[in-house]
Amino acid sequence: MEKKEYINRAEGVMLHVYNRFPVVFDHGNGMYLYDTDGKKYLDFGSGIGVMALGYNVAELNQTLKKQIDKLTHTSNLYYHVPMIEAAEKITKMSGMDQVFFTNSGAEAIEGAIKVAKKYAYKRDGHAGHEVVAMQHSFHGRTVGALSATGTDHYREPFYPLMGGVSFAEFNDFDSVKKAVNENTCAILLEPVQGEGGIYPADPEFLQEVRGLCDEKDILLIFDEIQCGMGRTGSLFAYQKYGVKPDILTSAKALGCGVPVGAFLVTEKVAKNSLEPGDHGTTYGGNPLVCASVSKVCDLMEKYQIPNHVKEKTPYLEAALDKLVQKKPWLLGRRGMGYMQGLILDSSIPVGSVVQKALDNGLIILSASGNVIRLLPPLIAEEKEIDEMIRILDKIL
Ligand SMILES: *Cc1c(COP(=O)(O)O)cnc(C)c1O
Repeated sequence: MEKKEYINRAEGVMLHVYNRFPVVFDHGNGMYLYDTDGKKYLDFGSGIGVMALGYNVAELNQTLKKQIDKLTHTSNLYYHVPMIEAAEKITKMSGMDQVFFTNSGAEAIEGAIKVAKKYAYKRDGHAGHEVVAMQHSFHGRTVGALSATGTDHYREPFYPLMGGVSFAEFNDFDSVKKAVNENTCAILLEPVQGEGGIYPADPEFLQEVRGLCDEKDILLIFDEIQCGMGRTGSLFAYQKYGVKPDILTSAKALGCGVPVGAFLVTEKVAKNSLEPGDHGTTYGGNPLVCASVSKVCDLMEKYQIPNHVKEKTPYLEAALDKLVQKKPWLLGRRGMGYMQGLILDSSIPVGSVVQKALDNGLIILSASGNVIRLLPPLIAEEKEIDEMIRILDKIL
């Protein structure tokens, strides 16, 4: 079928909440995607940071096929083996103690907020607690997660949102201190802000926020939905910073293509927050997605994915810095590991660059602040980095 025809059919029946790029993808392999016309694309977006191991990973496909033939769903009224294995592996890898599996990132945030509220409820003997989140953050589109997302234009049409959220300036400890009061139950932040424009936290900022949380018995929530699972060159960004949260959220690359998220907590939080009846999900952590999480954990370890990212990052950064030197429209680079942003001159809309890259067979993403966002599969090697740079060089 003609691409135009596919797109017309889609627009006839799909709610128009995305201005989609005019491409119809058909299949993928490794670092590449192929559309229905057979055109090949080098992928430096990985489906917004999801396909960390690339496309069509034979070992993962085998696991999923086997699980489909065995059991895909039981509900959370019962145990199943993939749930146990996935939970053991992800708690071990993340250094956290207990996990709750969700269907998405936003739901992981919702759960994290509920944990913090319940913790404070038990601490103080009453409800009415508040969350401090950061400006330019992104935590998802459900009402609770949106309430903690620091971007006005995402929020405004949906007021009133969940109350009791105040916003502080990212990387500004004084503004966090000012936002905290005796009712604060949690401080929520991304160690590396993604949608907001690829802003890594300053190490001292995270240390100071951790100190404040300890002093006031406030829970620190790190949203590692985008920056976790090896993307920064360690399994979780917090491990790189050496600042441990009380609650950690994951999703995106956690299932490498199956819809799964998670919030993880320390033992102290597990023992003093949610109890039977406080939270639940029908699908969350079903046998199919847990088989995937479990295998993704195995493959991350087997192929030493975080280490690979750590080793190749200097090459990627040097190549991007060279491009910034060469192109007057590129004002700088920010990022960590395989999560990089190129700041584009405001006279050039980033969407036009993303479209032009696509025309030239390269998938890239954008982020707030006119930023070109690169989230390649974590398996990217020098030769794919070179190819990406060649195309960016040409179109800029
Ligand atoms: C993508 C993202 C979310 C939301 O995840 P969904 O699966 O889209 O609900 C939350 N936080 C961060 C940091 C994200 O990048």
